[in-house]
Amino acid sequence: MDLPENGIRFDTRAIHAGQAFDPTTGAVIPPIYQTSTYVQDGIGGLRNGYEYSRGGNPTRTALESQLAALEGGIRALSFASGLAAEDALLRTVLRPGDHVVIGNDVYGGTHRLIRRIFGDWGVRHTTVDTSDLDAVREALELGTTKVLWVETPSNPLMKISDIAALAELGDEAGILVVVDNTFASPALQQPIGLGADVVVHSTTKYLGGHSDVVGGALVFAEGQEEVAERVGFTQFAAGAVSGPFDAFLTTRGIKTLGVRMQRHSQNALAIARRLDEHPAVSRVLYPGLESHPGHALAARQMSGFGGMVSIDLAGGAAAARRFAESTRLFQLAESLGGVESLVNYPSEMTHASVKGTEAEVPESIIRLSVGIEDVDDLLADIDAALAQL
Ligand SMILES: *Cc1c(COP(=O)(O)O)cnc(C)c1O
Repeated sequence: MDLPENGIRFDTRAIHAGQAFDPTTGAVIPPIYQTSTYVQDGIGGLRNGYEYSRGGNPTRTALESQLAALEGGIRALSFASGLAAEDALLRTVLRPGDHVVIGNDVYGGTHRLIRRIFGDWGVRHTTVDTSDLDAVREALELGTTKVLWVETPSNPLMKISDIAALAELGDEAGILVVVDNTFASPALQQPIGLGADVVVHSTTKYLGGHSDVVGGALVFAEGQEEVAERVGFTQFAAGAVSGPFDAFLTTRGIKTLGVRMQRHSQNALAIARRLDEHPAVSRVLYPGLESHPGHALAARQMSGFGGMVSIDLAGGAAAARRFAESTRLFQLAESLGGVESLVNYPSEMTHASVKGTEAEVPESIIRLSVGIEDVDDLLADIDAALAQL
C-alpha cells in the first residue's frame, strides 16, 4: 500500500508502513527474504540496491521503514540487539578523550558498555540524575561532552526526565541527545517530536512484544542525516545487523503495539494501586500514580504510563527475594515488555553488572513487567505473594 505522507495515524502506520503486499503473488504479508545474497544482472547490476544481506535485506528494510514511521524519524537502522545498536552509535560519534553524560539509573548493560568498553577506549563518562536539569547542566563539559544519554522512564527506578528541556539543553551545548525509548515505546512517547536527535530501542522488549526475539534499533531525527549515514556505514562495516527472521518477528509484533500498550498500562495501574495499599510495600514506583514525583511530567510527555512497575519492600533484601520467588504467574526472569508478566530482582539479575558502582540498585527493589493477562489473575498472584511476606 502506498501511504500518503501525512495524516496517517499511529496504529495505521504500525500496520502498514513498510508492509506493501508482494507484487508477484499478491501475498498480503511480504515474504521473509531468508537469503544471504542476491543475483546481479551483469556485474554491478543490482536489483533495488541489494547486494549482500549484511548491507541490506528487504525484510530488514521493511522493519526499518516501520520503525522510522512510528518514531517520526528520517531513517531507522535495525540491529542484532539493543546493545549492538548502542555500540554502533557510540562507536561512530565518539573518539578517545570525549565525554558522555548518562542517567544514573540507565539500563545496567548501557552503563557497562560505556564504563567498561568505551572507558578502556579513553571515553570518560559522568552519571547524573537526568530528572534534575541543573545537575545535567553542571555535568556537561564544554567541548568534550559529545553525547547526553537519557532513559525515561528509567530502569528500574522509573524516574521521569523532561525530554524537551534536555533536548534544548543539548541543543545549546551542541551535543547529541539520545533517548532510550525502550520502556515507553513509540505508542506512548515519541522523543523525536520533543527534540531528541536519536532514539534507541531494545526491540527485544515492547516492540517485539512476545519474548521470542532479541533486537535493537536506532531512529534518527530530521537534521541527523549525516550521523545516520555514518552509523549506517558502521553497521555495514562492523556487521551487527538483525537477521531476516528476527526482523520479521519484530515487524509482526509492532503491528499490535498500540493495543498491547493500552492493556499493559491498564493492568500496571491496577497492580500499582493494589501494591500501594499494602503495608509490606514502602514505595511503589509507577508514573501513573499521582504520588509519583514525575507524574505530571509523564502525563505531559507520554500518552500512557506503560507496563513497568517497581516496588521498594519495607522488609529490605530478604522480603524482596521472597516476593520475587513467590509469584507464579509473574515468572522470575530478566527482560520485559512481553505479553506475559515477569518479575525481576534487579540487584542480582538485570543490574548485577552495576553493583558497587554509582548506578547500584537498592537490594529492596523488585521490578515487575506487567503483561496483558487478565488483570484479576495478576492481582490474585500479587496478593498471594504479598501474603508470604
Ligand atoms: C534490554 C534493554 C537494553 C539492551 O537491549 P538488548 O536487546 O538486551 O541488547 C537497552 N535499554 C533498555 C532500557 C533495555 O531494557
